[in-house]
Amino acid sequence: IYEVKNLTKAFEAGFFRTSKIVALNDVTFNVSKGDVLSIVGESGSGKSTLAKILLKLEKPTSGKVLYKGVDLSEIDNRRYWREVQAVFQDPYASFNPVHKVDRVLKAPLKNYFNHLSERDIYNRIKEALEFVGLRANETLGKYPHQFSGGQLQRIMIARALLVDPEVLIADEPVSMIDASLRIEILNLLHDINARRRITILFITHDLSLASYISNKILVLYRGEIMEYGDSEEVIENPLHPYTQLLMSSIPQVDRKFDRKLEIELEKIEEVNLVGCVFQPRCPYARDVCINVKPKIVSVKPNHLVRCHLYGESQGSWRLNDTRKS
Ligand code: SF4
Ligand code: MG
Repeated sequence: IYEVKNLTKAFEAGFFRTSKIVALNDVTFNVSKGDVLSIVGESGSGKSTLAKILLKLEKPTSGKVLYKGVDLSEIDNRRYWREVQAVFQDPYASFNPVHKVDRVLKAPLKNYFNHLSERDIYNRIKEALEFVGLRANETLGKYPHQFSGGQLQRIMIARALLVDPEVLIADEPVSMIDASLRIEILNLLHDINARRRITILFITHDLSLASYISNKILVLYRGEIMEYGDSEEVIENPLHPYTQLLMSSIPQVDRKFDRKLEIELEKIEEVNLVGCVFQPRCPYARDVCINVKPKIVSVKPNHLVRCHLYGESQGSWRLNDTRKS
């Protein structure tokens, strides 16, 4: 459903706009219909920029995104924004406190299905609310402050479902929700994927949530793909030192790393555009890592990694070579 090709996004920064911040660098991956792809990374990894480009809220600097084979820039916004729905991090920000939640639910139906009668609108809303585990008679007519964050996020998910989307892009949808309620929202997203065959892009900083919900995982660091593959592969056999670091922060996994890896991200100011972006934090870094950017290599058909530890000397082939065929 998506082909993302060599996507790069650079922002101008500084008072005179003389410096550049590279938010995404040469990002290439595909999403198939029905996938749940988790895009995992810390703040500053470029994951939200990627989400914004996929939502047509930002334009790439170079590279492209094909949606069902058509370049995003050529797709009609109105059609696209119906087929591709978003759920954001902060459910409170999506509601105007002085309006009843009904308004947020009716808006997309009035926008996209203006032939519907009031009764049809009510029935559709009732069905969507029931799908997300809410009752219409306990939800409609109330104001946002009468709900918990988890309930508001369910309402936002119901809103997304109302227009029959093909894709749901969820940017940190549970990070502001009580830990005890997160799993229910994840289960709900799982049901949406399984029962309605909606493709889900799940953006998170938390690899354990990614492993819970997705069939594919893409790990981003400083705007570059570090590792990408089937979830079981990435979770059971994490190859990239950064993925291993993320794994080690999941409590049940043994800590494989020493303190060196726990340097705060903010302390690394210079992005090394020549060599490996993870080099300042990597316990395995060698000279080549400083001077040569590793290519993405495929160690198995559904498992790619960008790290010199898995270069051609390991007998694998380069992604670049396969693109031509
Ligand atoms: Fe570490 Fe080098 Fe691999 Fe980068 S390329 S992750 S610095 S071993
Ligand atoms: Mg973000």
